[in-house]
Amino acid sequence: MTDRYSVIGHPINHTKSPLIHGLFAEVSQQDLEYGAIEGGLDGFEAQVLGFRDAGGRGMNITAPFKLRAFELADARSERATLAKASNALKFEHGKVYAENFDGIGLLRDIEHNLQVPLAGRKVLVLGAGGAARGALLPFLAAGPAHLVIANRDLAKARTLAAEVTDPRVQVCAYDALGGQDFDLVINATSASLVGELPPIGPEVFDHALLAYELAYGKGLTPFLRLARESGVAQLADGVGMLVEQAAEAFEWWRGVRPETRPVIDRLTVPLD
Ligand code: NDP
Repeated sequence: MTDRYSVIGHPINHTKSPLIHGLFAEVSQQDLEYGAIEGGLDGFEAQVLGFRDAGGRGMNITAPFKLRAFELADARSERATLAKASNALKFEHGKVYAENFDGIGLLRDIEHNLQVPLAGRKVLVLGAGGAARGALLPFLAAGPAHLVIANRDLAKARTLAAEVTDPRVQVCAYDALGGQDFDLVINATSASLVGELPPIGPEVFDHALLAYELAYGKGLTPFLRLARESGVAQLADGVGMLVEQAAEAFEWWRGVRPETRPVIDRLTVPLD
């Protein structure tokens, strides 16, 4: 019987996940169906369990349900636990397993696709929401020299830093970023979704070799535009992260690692 998977979110009409997983299934010759479910703000949990009870094998979870997916699971990975969010569920042995592949997908895009290893680098992460939380453990495992988290709500950044208790992690207010050198600047805020720039000046890019925008498909966002004007050599948006996190979920469910390059190429919207 064909195995069934789905993404669930609200709204779900712009999701790329069925396309990505459909391409993965095709190239890796896996017999599966992958759909999209419009999640209900009242009925999300019932929809997930209903999908599982009807024979579903796994789901991707997108906004605004990542926290609720994490909470409904029977077992959670360490990454999902720090993120307090799950973007992938697996239904197996009568249990719901929660994972979070957003951070590892981002790391893989940076290190493998963009060829910028994090080891020894000085990293600035803007934002302390779900995406920043998901990135923290995979980033630290990659061995940066230090990692600074800046967020408007500084208490939120401090809480996150306190949860990892790693001396390499520092918290900094936006207006105190000047005078520090960063090799990588990662925009993990949602500012770009509304066309805004997080409150940074061009000086954060003075030594940067990569500016990475987690939002995708939006062309040159205010963050990427400032990075370009500041002379950063490499700019990227989150399309590679999106495809890499999908590949992680696919491998978790199917035991097969799909090739990601052709899918990234197909989904990439030029930055200009
Ligand atoms: P959350 O809502 O969890 O967090 C939002 C963060 O953005 C908070 O730190 C918030 O700061 C900050 N923020 C919002 N607006 C502004 C602003 N105008 N200026 C400065 N900071 C701002 O969102 P997520 O962490 O889930 O998502 C963050 C981004 O990552 C989004 O663009 C999302 O699309 C992208 N993303 C991309 C993925 C991919 O696969 N490429 C996967 C997941 C997310 P404060 O706490 O101070 O309010």
